[in-house]
Amino acid sequence: MENSYKKRMQKKKAYIDSRIEAANIDKGIIVLLTGNGKGKSSSAMGMICRALGYDLKVGLVRFLKGAQDTGEDLFLNNHENVSTALMESGFTWDTQDKKLDIQKAAETWNKAKIFLQDPAIDLVVIDELTYMINYGYLDESGILEIINHRPENQHVVITGRAASKALIDISDTVSEIQDVKHAFRANIKAQKGVDY
Ligand code: ATP
Ligand code: MG
Repeated sequence: MENSYKKRMQKKKAYIDSRIEAANIDKGIIVLLTGNGKGKSSSAMGMICRALGYDLKVGLVRFLKGAQDTGEDLFLNNHENVSTALMESGFTWDTQDKKLDIQKAAETWNKAKIFLQDPAIDLVVIDELTYMINYGYLDESGILEIINHRPENQHVVITGRAASKALIDISDTVSEIQDVKHAFRANIKAQKGVDY
């Protein structure tokens, strides 16, 4: 019993060691967080926290910003290593002015492009990007082109539901967060510090 456990663990370790040895490429990666469950944007914010812990420089782009500031926006505001491009609040369902929404999306994307062309920025988070593409507010092929031609060591994190096949194809790591349960459906209000 003891012996077979040891053997199994040795085999596992040898396999993991071989995988670690094979992983010898060092480059900027694209992480895509999609799906209907909660945890996409907050995961991206966790990666910002990781990056800042190593003194890396971060560009945070946020589409579909709500009227209420999120805790992380308040926390990261004025952080010396974080540059932000936040879409003006009061988007779409408030204004019902499609032309204005498209204009705001384009303005935010123009700021995002500056981050994606700046080798001094180590991590660019593009929060809620998928909606801009799915609503047809931004041209996907132009976005993919800019992301593909970013500085070699720059990491990009993209969030939003219903990511397109093209976004999945250009990404290195893709996670789909499944909605198993959400407190909101039990009539629990969005909670400060957890949901925003
Ligand atoms: P979070 O920012 O909490 O990580 P998210 O980015 O995965 O969430 P979004 O679709 O961007 O999810 O929605 C943001 C807000 O909507 C958050 O307040 C979140 O708690 C809430 N939310 C996320 N998923 C669901 C869901 N399945 N049902 C109801 N509310 C949700
Ligand atoms: Mg989100």
